[in-house]
Amino acid sequence: MDTREVLCDVMRVLHDRGLLNVKGGNASIRGNGDYIWITPSKEPKHRLTPDDIVLIFLDGRWVGRTKPSIEYKMHLNLYKNYEWVKAVIHAHSPLTTLLFDLTENIDLSAYVESAVSIPCIEVVGRYPPGSDELANAVNEAVDECPVVVLQGHGVVSAAKDIYTALNAVEALEDVAEMYLMRKSLSTK
Ligand SMILES: [Zn+2]
Repeated sequence: MDTREVLCDVMRVLHDRGLLNVKGGNASIRGNGDYIWITPSKEPKHRLTPDDIVLIFLDGRWVGRTKPSIEYKMHLNLYKNYEWVKAVIHAHSPLTTLLFDLTENIDLSAYVESAVSIPCIEVVGRYPPGSDELANAVNEAVDECPVVVLQGHGVVSAAKDIYTALNAVEALEDVAEMYLMRKSLSTK
């Protein structure tokens, strides 16, 4: 599959799973040079086509029919600073966001799914979407762990390939759902 088609596929999966609204979230894949492919700003994410995907150089210049995602600085920082990062996803996973509002103390060994799919979790505070502060905080966090929860906002997953990044986002949401259900079912 063409890289741009892969990004469209990933955004459809994220939307179908309720991990982003039609105008939220973003994803990118490193190209074979000083550039990345990234999802556009504002376009409905569930029906993107390859022509909607924006090419953006690591120096910030871009080519596309619409602007790149407002979080492009966050994506570019990760590609510039970590050679191993080949793909980045940012989703607005609702249960993950809720869980980390309630607690940051999640035992990843509690469920097989999380133990296999989520290497670790870092948490960053509340910063405005699209801001340099958010981009810098995520960049620092990825030095510790490729899966980063943004408090009150969502999650960022960086990986060697985009489906590994997507798998971690999905697994984290599954774990969040199980934690929250266990909490609500517990009588103690
Ligand atoms: Zn966001």
